[in-house]
Amino acid sequence: MLSIRLGGKAAGRQHTLYAIKSHQVRGAAQKVAFSSTTVASKEKVVILGSGWGGYEVLRGIDKSRYDVTIISPNTYFNFTPLLASCAVGSLEYRCALEPVRRYTPQVKSYQAWCDAIDFKSKTLTCMPATPPLPFEKKPATLADVTTTAYPGTGTPFQLPYDKLIISVGAYAQTFGVPGVKEHGYFLKDVKDARSIRTRILECFEQAAEPLLTDDQRRNILHFCIVGGGPTGVEFGAELHDFLQSDIRKHYPHLATLAKISLYDVAPTILSMFDQGLMQYAEKTFKREGIDIFTSHHVEKIEAGKMHVKEQGEVPFGLLVWSTGLAPNPLIECLTEVEKHPKTGSVITDGHCQLLMKGSTEKSAASDEKPDPVPNPDVWAIGDAAMIQGVMLPATAQVANQKGKYLVKKLNRMLEGQDTSAPFKWRNLGTLAYVGENQALYDRSKSAGGPKPKGAGRMAWLLWRSAYASMALSMRNKILVPTFWLVNWIFGRDLSRF
Ligand SMILES: Cc1cc2nc3c(=O)[nH]c(=O)nc-3n(C[C@H](O)[C@H](O)[C@H](O)COP(=O)(O)OP(=O)(O)OC[C@H]3O[C@@H](n4cnc5c(N)ncnc54)[C@H](O)[C@@H]3O)c2cc1C
Repeated sequence: MLSIRLGGKAAGRQHTLYAIKSHQVRGAAQKVAFSSTTVASKEKVVILGSGWGGYEVLRGIDKSRYDVTIISPNTYFNFTPLLASCAVGSLEYRCALEPVRRYTPQVKSYQAWCDAIDFKSKTLTCMPATPPLPFEKKPATLADVTTTAYPGTGTPFQLPYDKLIISVGAYAQTFGVPGVKEHGYFLKDVKDARSIRTRILECFEQAAEPLLTDDQRRNILHFCIVGGGPTGVEFGAELHDFLQSDIRKHYPHLATLAKISLYDVAPTILSMFDQGLMQYAEKTFKREGIDIFTSHHVEKIEAGKMHVKEQGEVPFGLLVWSTGLAPNPLIECLTEVEKHPKTGSVITDGHCQLLMKGSTEKSAASDEKPDPVPNPDVWAIGDAAMIQGVMLPATAQVANQKGKYLVKKLNRMLEGQDTSAPFKWRNLGTLAYVGENQALYDRSKSAGGPKPKGAGRMAWLLWRSAYASMALSMRNKILVPTFWLVNWIFGRDLSRF
């Protein structure tokens, strides 16, 4: 497991790892013979990623008739909407996880990163994401890789596929602000939630030290969030509830010194919501004592302080960075595919089929850009992909619906049934928790059907029931409401380990 500080550094580490791997692995990968005991007649379907898109495909694909393999550096699926609750102890971490190996032995699973895809030979190059084996000789050319915090065994392996589903998601966007990866915390994974929870409690223990002045305590208990989207807002709301309840009980003399500040370069927070709901969220935050600094530019982060263009130096004890998405390094190093110029996502056709760059030979005679060609055996879904000409939000809803669509398509292919229907997104609405048992619900921007929206207690009940019922396993359907109840009666657990 990663250390406390790695919560914030995780994405940075992965970037480093990929930067090294993407140019080294292709030349230097030890070609490890890949043994398969599966019946030859079954098509090999490989799923990259165990997130909202990949895990949905894993769940639904006909595993008795396809030879399914999943490659993911995580051995679990992250139920991301619950991560903010996990980060403050409203829920325990395992409520937000589903194990990938649930489908063993029908499915082969490798805890690894896919580093490269050879579309011609239909082969993947993967790097194990497990710690090095004691007896393993590391290839010299991968020396840099093996010195990173979570190095892998250093022995890449290759894996053939007949059909490939790319659902590797995206990384956290930092806009090149120096110091974010070193001193900030991201909230993308349950490991990040754990690091944040540990750091919050550490801040209070540090502030409780006897020799500190109240000003020093205020600095340590200043919790900054950069990014006014749903993730930043929900984390702020959960943190507020935590400070007002359990922290107030356990650290009564310190709770009044704690402060939450939310920063964004945009003029508003939650810009994807209806304007009335945005204002409701801002008013609620003000009432809760959360400072909102919109149109503020964070320029640099250092240990314990950030530089804001409009304010100068701002000290903090914890900084959570949530300013959108950057392309996954695997996606970045794919050169033969069409990509969106702004987001860097791969582009698919309306059937989620990956669009390859058209042949340049054909277009040599004319100056026209060659038409992209759908790859009949590769699909891309989730935050890593977008459909040509259609800008859907990068949400679990879209990733999950695309996963369901692919399941249907792949299973129908086995029967020789019609698979010509393109993907159609059904907007189920957007929910966000804003603290003190209040939430926002907005379906006003959906293309068809009723367009309800609302804020307050009813929206909060909807928020809770939606996430409790959306938990994938029966175990978590029981655990999520149970933890809500237990914490409501007894309070959150404040142990730090
Ligand atoms: C805190 C938080 C709260 C959110 N709340 C909501 C919400 O309430 N509603 C909503 O609709 N959306 C929400 N989202 C957005 C939603 O989680 C994403 O849109 C969704 O996860 C995208 O799904 P995905 O499958 O594309 O990627 P992910 O779910 O990110 O999964 C990507 C998977 O790929 C794996 N991977 C990465 N690189 C590689 C590689 N090289 N090889 C193999 N595997 C790889 C990762 O380990 C991971 O398993 C939230 C996001 C966050 C971070």
